Amino acid sequence: MKNLTMVVLVKQVPDTKNITGEAMKEDGTVNRSALPAIFNPEDLNALEMALQVKEQYGGTVNVITMGPPSAVDALKEALYRGADRVMLLSDRKFSGSDTLATSFALKQAIISKVSDYDIVFCGRQAIDGDTAQVGPQTAEKLDIPQLTYVTRIEELDDKKIKVKRLIDNGSEIVEADLPALLTVTDSANEPRPFIVKKMLKYRKAASKLDLEKLMPRYPRFENIEALQEHFISKGLFIEVWGIDDINADPEEVGFAGSPTMVKKIESISLTGKGFKEIEPTDEGIKNFVAELIEDHTW
Ligand SMILES: Cc1cc2nc3c(=O)[nH]c(=O)nc-3n(C[C@H](O)[C@H](O)[C@H](O)COP(=O)(O)OP(=O)(O)OC[C@H]3O[C@@H](n4cnc5c(N)ncnc54)[C@H](O)[C@@H]3O)c2cc1C
Repeated sequence: MKNLTMVVLVKQVPDTKNITGEAMKEDGTVNRSALPAIFNPEDLNALEMALQVKEQYGGTVNVITMGPPSAVDALKEALYRGADRVMLLSDRKFSGSDTLATSFALKQAIISKVSDYDIVFCGRQAIDGDTAQVGPQTAEKLDIPQLTYVTRIEELDDKKIKVKRLIDNGSEIVEADLPALLTVTDSANEPRPFIVKKMLKYRKAASKLDLEKLMPRYPRFENIEALQEHFISKGLFIEVWGIDDINADPEEVGFAGSPTMVKKIESISLTGKGFKEIEPTDEGIKNFVAELIEDHTW
């Protein structure tokens, strides 16, 4: 079997599990600076699945994220776990991207920066946007099959992949031709911890966006270009690509490429208001369910 080229799409997200009082601004938008940024949990499962494929069949794991310069931290975590190559898509022109524009940028990055890919792995869903749209939309744009809600790879060869995927009340086994895109759920595996040796190496990794700040720490280099060469030669240079580097049409990314409009944001507090007693009989439950359906609660 040939070595597989894999791509993992990862997103850095605010840690919505540790919400404090400042998490929401007065206008109802998320105050990202008040929440610690973490690796989107199901993207860790996607990365783990790719690393396991690499160990079993051989291949390379390329990780791509689109985000602000600070998203480099998520990429470093991917390196600490065993990723081979990491790339950051960062450009002011990407800001304001909805899921459609995000998937367009990710598709452009995959086709322009990773040649002959076999499998693209995504998390099922990001814990902040929560739409679960980016994976399927990216598959659509790449014009490849999508296998969603994947919990296990059953079989894999050069040409085909067979996976187990979750469906309502159970699971099913499906097969697709490669290349294909998988969205991976949190029940798929237990993501591995950082590998200490890799952490010691890659904690010094930096992108071109960091080099100016780092210059004073490396007085032996005359200029940024020389410092960049040094980082490249040590395998510690993180690639950053902008809109032109991935040949993206400015009309398809950022605000211009985003048809979604946020009309109103509301903070909803759920309060208990009274209760209703129902007969603990089949009939009582049936009537109650009918009531819930009628008033659209269910
Ligand atoms: C009108 C509008 C404007 C927006 N403006 C902004 C903005 O200015 N700044 C901003 O940060 N967000 C903005 N967003 C949010 C942005 O659209 C989403 O964060 C993004 O498209 C991902 O969607 P999601 O979080 O629902 O991911 P999901 O679809 O739930 O994610 C599924 C999987 O796709 C992959 N994935 C998702 N996003 C990325 C990514 N960025 N890089 C790599 N892989 C990824 C991951 O594998 C993830 O597990 C905006 C959204 C809308 C609707």
